[in-house]
Amino acid sequence: MQLYMPTKVFSEENCVKNHAREMGALGKKAMIVTGKNSAKSCGALADILAALEDQNVRYVLFDRVEENPSIETVMAAREIALSENVDFCIGVGGGSPMDAAKAIAMMTANPDENEGVLYTPKALPYLPVVCVPTTCGTGSEVTPYAILTRHALRTKKSISHKIFPALALLDAKYLKTMSRNGLVSTAVDALAHLIESWLNANTNDLNRIYTREGLRLWGQFKDRLAEDALTKEDYVRMLHASMAAGMSITHTGTSIPHAMSYPVTYELAVPHGTAVGMFLGGFVEGYPDQEAAQSAMDILGFENAGVFHTYLTCLLGKVEVPEKVLEAGAALLLSDPAKLKNYPFPITEAELMNMAN
Ligand code: NAP
Ligand code: ZN
Repeated sequence: MQLYMPTKVFSEENCVKNHAREMGALGKKAMIVTGKNSAKSCGALADILAALEDQNVRYVLFDRVEENPSIETVMAAREIALSENVDFCIGVGGGSPMDAAKAIAMMTANPDENEGVLYTPKALPYLPVVCVPTTCGTGSEVTPYAILTRHALRTKKSISHKIFPALALLDAKYLKTMSRNGLVSTAVDALAHLIESWLNANTNDLNRIYTREGLRLWGQFKDRLAEDALTKEDYVRMLHASMAAGMSITHTGTSIPHAMSYPVTYELAVPHGTAVGMFLGGFVEGYPDQEAAQSAMDILGFENAGVFHTYLTCLLGKVEVPEKVLEAGAALLLSDPAKLKNYPFPITEAELMNMAN
């Protein structure tokens, strides 16, 4: 067994302000990487600008990261980072800007490399990365993964490099501006990370410390999430469940629901967590080791996998996915031994396609 979780994490109210010094110690000029609006509207960007000014750290803002960021966006940001002599990156937002910040940090530290290196396994340096999550789903603030859209393959894929953020600053107040759909989708993403990690060939007693705690927290807010009656304390639980889920998949990787979701998001623009959630109920219900599946249900507080499946369908609604999109997902997964090896049983194309909804 091995455990490696090198990101320094702080979580508290006014976290960015309180830990300005830790952030300022990482460099002299930052690239702040955000999406178009939410970092501004939720208040995170203003907190970061104030913290950097307090520390006399200069910055350049790149606020053009789209959902499911593309390689093209990463390369455009790298040009600016190089011309501005940036020496660290701050990803602020959901998984999209945090993942983009990691890839930008790697490409900027390797100015002679072109975009092909993103998917070439090779040890390369990267600039320090700070992450400030404003959604409660990806856990990207603690994972080494960065998932980019690959238009040439009509799907999304994690880059070949492991880039751990140096620092993660968590403040649940940023979640307050999220829409109900956004909260539900990202919370289900975290839930999928937990379950796909629990039911994974790489799970063990040590990394389950994170997974068990994430499932316990998720179980505490599940009814209020369904009833749209979340409390201030629930927002903290959601952020921590998401982070614990990130720590879980750092050690195990994800499994079938994630792999099947990528073409659904690419082809139908279904948000990441919702797309993953479409496969999650079927994944648990059909899991060959029902004792293991039930142990996750017990921690979450669901009577059985059937009740869990119904809960998810009510929460997310039903999404109609054309057969050819499911076929594309199954074909990609069955041709990817690295992904398939996380699932400790044989699986057929028909079983994969039946997992939807
Ligand atoms: P996201 O794509 O980062 O953002 C989704 C939407 O939510 C955007 O419109 C964004 O607005 C908005 N938003 C973000 N924070 C908000 C807030 N506090 N208030 C209001 N709106 C807010 O969503 P995500 O689900 O967090 O990330 C998904 C991406 O992460 C996918 O590409 C997925 O593959 C990846 N992912 C990565 C990992 C990992 O380990 N690295 C794990 C799972 C998933 P703006 O565009 O204006 O910011
Ligand atoms: Zn995910």
